[in-house]
Amino acid sequence: MNIVRIDIHKLKIAISNPIRVKLGVIDAAQNIVVKITTQSGLYGWGEASPFAPITGDSQDSNYAAAQQMARMIKDKDALAIEARMAEINGLSVGEPSVRSAFDMALYDIAAKAAGMPLYRFLGGERREIRTDLTIGWRDTVADTVAQARNILAANFNAIKLKVGRPGLVDVAHVTAVRELVGPDIALKIDSNQGWDYPTAVANIKAMADLDLDYAEQPLAVWDYDNMARLRDKVDLPICADESVFDHHDALKLVRHGAADYLNIKLGKAGGIHTGLKINAIAEAAGAKCMIGCFAESRLGLSAAAHLAMARPNITFIDLDSCYHFKSDPVIGGVTFDDEIGGLLHLPDTPGHGAEIDVSALDPENSIQI
Ligand SMILES: [Mg+2]
Repeated sequence: MNIVRIDIHKLKIAISNPIRVKLGVIDAAQNIVVKITTQSGLYGWGEASPFAPITGDSQDSNYAAAQQMARMIKDKDALAIEARMAEINGLSVGEPSVRSAFDMALYDIAAKAAGMPLYRFLGGERREIRTDLTIGWRDTVADTVAQARNILAANFNAIKLKVGRPGLVDVAHVTAVRELVGPDIALKIDSNQGWDYPTAVANIKAMADLDLDYAEQPLAVWDYDNMARLRDKVDLPICADESVFDHHDALKLVRHGAADYLNIKLGKAGGIHTGLKINAIAEAAGAKCMIGCFAESRLGLSAAAHLAMARPNITFIDLDSCYHFKSDPVIGGVTFDDEIGGLLHLPDTPGHGAEIDVSALDPENSIQI
């Protein structure tokens, strides 16, 4: 099933409430979408949401790289995902966000060709998955608590708090949220590399009674040795995020004893093809996975949700980016329950089910290969 055309578009989506984390502020989604069309007429959609402080790429670099990738795979078999991803991954060790966009479009085509929703194409069956909702850095504890109150009112059962501030500043924020939400809401913390080893130890020990699920990326991306030390020192599971892009990182982290959990993001892994390998390594090591996101629309979130649905070892779900958007340019795909906060609904349409509403795209920022 040869590829006859690839459409590449820049897509900007405004965010209602900018999200501040240790690494920067996300005030708009500056994404890339690709549509791969085959000679049979079947097509697939994919999305990239680059965030340079983590992924090292940008909307402009993705837009340029996508054109090279498109020329490389045009006229070749869309169903030979192994070969196509070897070519795309061989083109750059960088640009993981846009490699992921091509990957999810190819999986979309393959699942459509099989007549199956993507999670079934991946061998999965329907299971209940619910996302948490994230609170970024707020200026005051009262601001953080106000955010948590809104999340509680929307009936979520899990909250992720961005931490990683200097000293022990985070402790008051996390403590106040636990006091507000009571014992039945899951709380996770994510430092985005903001702490050093002694600060991480001090914070996690100060939060020992708050019944947290895990601490995500407490230390610098490269600091495997201290992540392993930290695991020995504290009584809280450690989740690697920025430290794990692909299966090679996963294997190194496992060998180092540096993480209890691994956070798969399609935009770091370069897509589902490598995400499956990360999960397989985690499973072999007895480690659970989390699935996360950058600022993808429901298009990118749909692909990630299908992967999570298909692999029960992906236990922790953090697919909440679209909750922060002012508009929703996606037709079909994953939707979120109105009553049960964070509950994902995946359609049983073939593929990942999501398409971009072309009226949201700007012809001036589009190219066809
Ligand atoms: Mg994270």
